[in-house]
Amino acid sequence: MRKGVLFVISAPSGAGKTTLCQKLSELFPEIKHSVSYTTRKPREGEVDGVHYFFVEKQNFLGMIEKGEFLEWAEVHGNYYGTSREFVSSMVSSGTDLLLDIDVQGGREIRKYFPDSVLIFILPPSKEILRQRLEGRMSDAAEVIERRLKIASDEISGYKNYNYVIVNDSLEKAFDEFASIITAERLKTERVDSSWIKEQFFKEDKNGY
Ligand code: 5GP
Repeated sequence: MRKGVLFVISAPSGAGKTTLCQKLSELFPEIKHSVSYTTRKPREGEVDGVHYFFVEKQNFLGMIEKGEFLEWAEVHGNYYGTSREFVSSMVSSGTDLLLDIDVQGGREIRKYFPDSVLIFILPPSKEILRQRLEGRMSDAAEVIERRLKIASDEISGYKNYNYVIVNDSLEKAFDEFASIITAERLKTERVDSSWIKEQFFKEDKNGY
């Protein structure tokens, strides 16, 4: 049996990553999503154990101490971490997994799992990113500027990634996303070679 493939997806906020991940679940329901731990407070509609495991900072620090995170990072003043146990069990049971984490996390995952697949989502332009950030939040101009600066920092991490998708049309971006997933799953090194051997290289009764 082949190991599960780790797909890491990162993007600055406002690039459309959440929508792409939701659509991915509809097309590939067998790909599990890793639920991170975070110290940030839940937003409206977010469910504990579904979107995140929401924990107190004290608990999070305790989990770091015990080595329970495969990777963790501080993002926008909150802590976020990926469960080591969950990822290992998925990989060893052959389940493909999607990790929606930031570029710091992507770097760490690549270190531990060199054959993981890192996908970066870009908004079509800085101007459109600004409009999307303004559109979704009624924040002061300086807050928007700060978010844009954070977005630029995140974007500068794209070089570590295997793929870059520019989300100028959701439909096209999703097609590209799904194509990457499909192609990566079909790579020769991920194919179950024992099945091929059994099917095509086992001698039958005629000695062929
Ligand atoms: P949000 O608070 O908007 O849900 O997420 C903020 C950022 O944290 C996003 O870029 C998201 O991908 C990232 N993030 C979520 N979970 C993790 C995690 O477990 N590890 C890391 N490194 N980043 C995470």
